[in-house]
Amino acid sequence: MKVLFCSSEIVPFAKTGGLADVAGALPCALESQGCQVKVALPKYRCVKKAGNSAKMGRDIEVYLIENDRYFDRPELYGEKSGDYPDNLERFSFFCRQILHLLKKNNFCPDIIHCNDWQTALVSVYLKTKFRDEPFFNRTKTIFTIHNLAYQGLFAKEQFSQTQLDQQFFNMHQLEYYGKLNLLKGGLVFSRFITTVSPTYAKEIQTLKFGCGLDGVLRERRNELFGIINGLDYQTWNPANDDKIFRRYTAENIKDKYANKEALQRELGLPCEKEVALVGIVSRLAEQKGIDLITSALDKIAGLKLQFVLLGTGDEKYHLLLEKIREKKYKNISINLRFDAVLAHKIYAGCDMFLVPSYYEPCGLGQLISLKYGTIPIVRKTGGLADTVGPDNGFVFEKYTSGQMLQAINRAVKSYEDKEQWRKLTLRAMEYDFSWDASAKKYIELYNRAINKE
Ligand code: ADP
Repeated sequence: MKVLFCSSEIVPFAKTGGLADVAGALPCALESQGCQVKVALPKYRCVKKAGNSAKMGRDIEVYLIENDRYFDRPELYGEKSGDYPDNLERFSFFCRQILHLLKKNNFCPDIIHCNDWQTALVSVYLKTKFRDEPFFNRTKTIFTIHNLAYQGLFAKEQFSQTQLDQQFFNMHQLEYYGKLNLLKGGLVFSRFITTVSPTYAKEIQTLKFGCGLDGVLRERRNELFGIINGLDYQTWNPANDDKIFRRYTAENIKDKYANKEALQRELGLPCEKEVALVGIVSRLAEQKGIDLITSALDKIAGLKLQFVLLGTGDEKYHLLLEKIREKKYKNISINLRFDAVLAHKIYAGCDMFLVPSYYEPCGLGQLISLKYGTIPIVRKTGGLADTVGPDNGFVFEKYTSGQMLQAINRAVKSYEDKEQWRKLTLRAMEYDFSWDASAKKYIELYNRAINKE
């Protein structure tokens, strides 16, 4: 099976978020399972050093779509002052060039797998501009939503930049309340739609989590599937993680606690072995439940536990957290920056890991912490609900700081029973969220798409 995987960011070439991790790992897993895969990515400034012949996996060719006027810039989508004003032009170009390049290279994919609004127009073009091209006669499209909140909205006056016929600007196709909505185009024109967890697939069909597109998604509910993201166990494995103080496995779990002590020392927390250490590593954004944290931290400071936060993001949370830091609670460490090394140390050194998200398409933090034997405490939403339950963690349902505190208290209470806790830790480490199983599900879906008219 021939697959072209399109993404606006791919690890190791360009990354701003979780999409890049998926786009770096899934194509390799597909290749291992026998697909002939190529990927497409804009040739950003940060990619230029890769030259013209980038490869990934065993033998995956990376199509780098070049246009210096569009892509030779400091960032991917925009800078401090806001999004680049010509993003529609940039990503329309990207999508058209992908199709031109396939023809030029005579690579005719059975499946084109698009991701998020930046590549949505590939599906649209195939059914419009390119519909009479015999070359793409048999090609089917899959569209994956990584976060429904980002839709690629543009003013209707810009529509001509897509080079599409004006007739497609209507409420059943690309129009959304008077604006152009690229993500909607992906949802309407692709053969199948997927998102990154089964629960999120259901949630986005509701008014509450549908970001205005729940109606479109409900209409296509029989062609919408949730496939959980995998985790890259090359990067995230306590047995061979060179960023942590001491490596460990389930067999020598005692070594995990050397990481706890080293972390406490590094953060200036009291080196108390018996006190539960709770960690959080997160973007500081509303989606991530940071409001629950900021409103509960004074109470958390009064509990018999230690708490470490690593995060960066919205200005308002920086200000709130700086204020709390000034109170100099002995058991709380607040670190407001992006720090990959400290993140690894937190996953390894903590006893528990908190993910109180308001919504969470899939979430990586809970998968990483399970692998490190660090017990997740999560809100029951999206991918968190699909990967954490009473057997491997602690779950709270309502989005309130009261419920979050109760879950933390339950975890701390259970931590007191050392033998039980050890069992829980070992069980958590056994969970396997590698890409193999998820890649298999994508291939099944590709096959369904190919066999379906
Ligand atoms: P999202 O992509 O929505 O931000 P995910 O849970 O899918 O959330 O992925 C977040 C990833 O980014 C995790 O690997 C997490 O460890 C990492 N991360 C988030 N904030 C920081 C930070 N301040 N420093 C280091 N790593 C971070």
